[in-house]
Amino acid sequence: MNQQLLDRIKQVPELPSLPAVAVQIVGLARQNNSSIQDVANVLSSDPALSAKVLKTINSSFYGLHNPVTTIKSAVVLLGLQTVKTLALGFSLVGTLNTRKSATFDYERFWRQSLYSAVAARAIAKRQRTLQRDEAFLAGLLSDIGTLVMHLTLGREYDVLLEACRGDQVALVRLSREKFDLDHAQVGGTLAEHWKFPALLIEPIRRHHDLADADIKTAALCEIVYAGVLCGQVFAAQSLNLLDRARQELGLRFKLDEAEIHNLFLDIETQCSELADLFEIDIESRHNFTDIEAEARQELIRISLQAQLQVQQFQQQNKQLQQQITVDALTGLANRTRFNQYIDEAFAESARSERPLALLFLDIDNFKTINDTYGHQAGDAVLTRLGTLLGENADPADLAARYGGEELVMVLKGRGRDVAAHIAEDIRQAIMSEIIAFEDETIRVTASIGVAIADAVHPFRSVEEFIGAADRAVYAAKSAGRNCVRVYIPPPTSTPKALWANGIQARGKQDNHIIKEGLHAGETFSRTV
Ligand code: GH3
Ligand code: MG
Ligand code: MG
Repeated sequence: MNQQLLDRIKQVPELPSLPAVAVQIVGLARQNNSSIQDVANVLSSDPALSAKVLKTINSSFYGLHNPVTTIKSAVVLLGLQTVKTLALGFSLVGTLNTRKSATFDYERFWRQSLYSAVAARAIAKRQRTLQRDEAFLAGLLSDIGTLVMHLTLGREYDVLLEACRGDQVALVRLSREKFDLDHAQVGGTLAEHWKFPALLIEPIRRHHDLADADIKTAALCEIVYAGVLCGQVFAAQSLNLLDRARQELGLRFKLDEAEIHNLFLDIETQCSELADLFEIDIESRHNFTDIEAEARQELIRISLQAQLQVQQFQQQNKQLQQQITVDALTGLANRTRFNQYIDEAFAESARSERPLALLFLDIDNFKTINDTYGHQAGDAVLTRLGTLLGENADPADLAARYGGEELVMVLKGRGRDVAAHIAEDIRQAIMSEIIAFEDETIRVTASIGVAIADAVHPFRSVEEFIGAADRAVYAAKSAGRNCVRVYIPPPTSTPKALWANGIQARGKQDNHIIKEGLHAGETFSRTV
């Protein structure tokens, strides 16, 4: 807490002072032995005040059966404490309510104060708390600190008031962040300065600080806090405060939905009766049925908005995912996605012992296509072949652009023969494709290498697996291009990485000379 600022506030000359009659009543309130006559004497010095006290006592607020006509009988019926508290409330509000300001919304301030007071009293009554009148008066003065902070800090504090639109909890949070001091702490100090009894000072000071309330006043602090939450439902400009009030009432006082509803209706009725007596203007717009309807609408609006945001977020996420994993030119998966996919598929194949096939496709003499028709024509060829490959891939398979003019396909659960046939079909389809670009018709061929990982011929790593498919393409190129070559592991079945540049590939089906990049003993078969 910012003690320095609090001390400064105490010195401010415009600090609201207590009216004479209130000083006397406070004096009586502090004495436990004040008599009925003492109170009646003080009140008789201010007939307007006495009239208001009596009118209040006779209103439905107190629910008396027979009208009370004198202060003395009021004291007999309701007790000294009630009459003293009411008188104090009236004299304070009467004195302070004459102020007007262009920068401080006094009307909203008094509206909030009255609603908080009535709500705190109504909750206290439901909780069968004896100190109902203290709850009322503490509720009435719960916001007095905002007035004091406005007078002391001016614009610096006013911006917070405007930002919170009557949400007192938000105001306390912002005020603590900015000044290390909040209006409740300031209000408590003022109540102390006015020499109020502790039973009033504490709830004013701690109603936003329940954890620090002492045991004697904790229940009253909690009631005033809940009163403020209910009050702001009526007095604030913000629409979404009803839910918080409901939650807190349910949590703290175990009130069910119907009880909460009735409580709000009671607050509304009692407030409209007291508003006249306190000469506080409460807008007719703030009737609880409207507030409830508005809150419901607001809730629907917020949940729709949230749904929309989730959808937008999902859409953005999808787009982002797309950007990260899709190759823009071919529309196939990109290298990043291929790496991720083959890692997972390879691990799964090793686990399940189901075969995994990898087709490595390299467009033949692509450089010549670029050189002859231009780079854009080359791009059109890549795009077309991307579509063709994509169409030939099952949903569980992956077709990707490995890089440049090299495309790949990963086929799950397909053995050597099936994979070799698929590769051959693709090769033929590419060969038959007539690609139109501007006025030209372009035809291309591709060389395809195939490698299969299965239980009989496993690979030790994905890298070896990819390397085998890559070398199969190389074999296809060496065989004259526009053909498929399938990798056959060495007869020992140990796919050891024995790099042996210049070794001649052997095998009964292979009849091509491979110059480099081979593993000893491996061969490349034709498809069928
Ligand atoms: P080979 O039959 O031996 O594969 O011959 P090639 O000409 O296809 O192979 P090389 O590796 O010599 O050339 C590949 C060419 O592919 C060179 C490069 O300009 C071209 N290329 C790579 N990426 C793209 C691309 O995105 N668009 C276009 N238009 N060309 C590309
Ligand atoms: Mg290439
Ligand atoms: Mg090529």
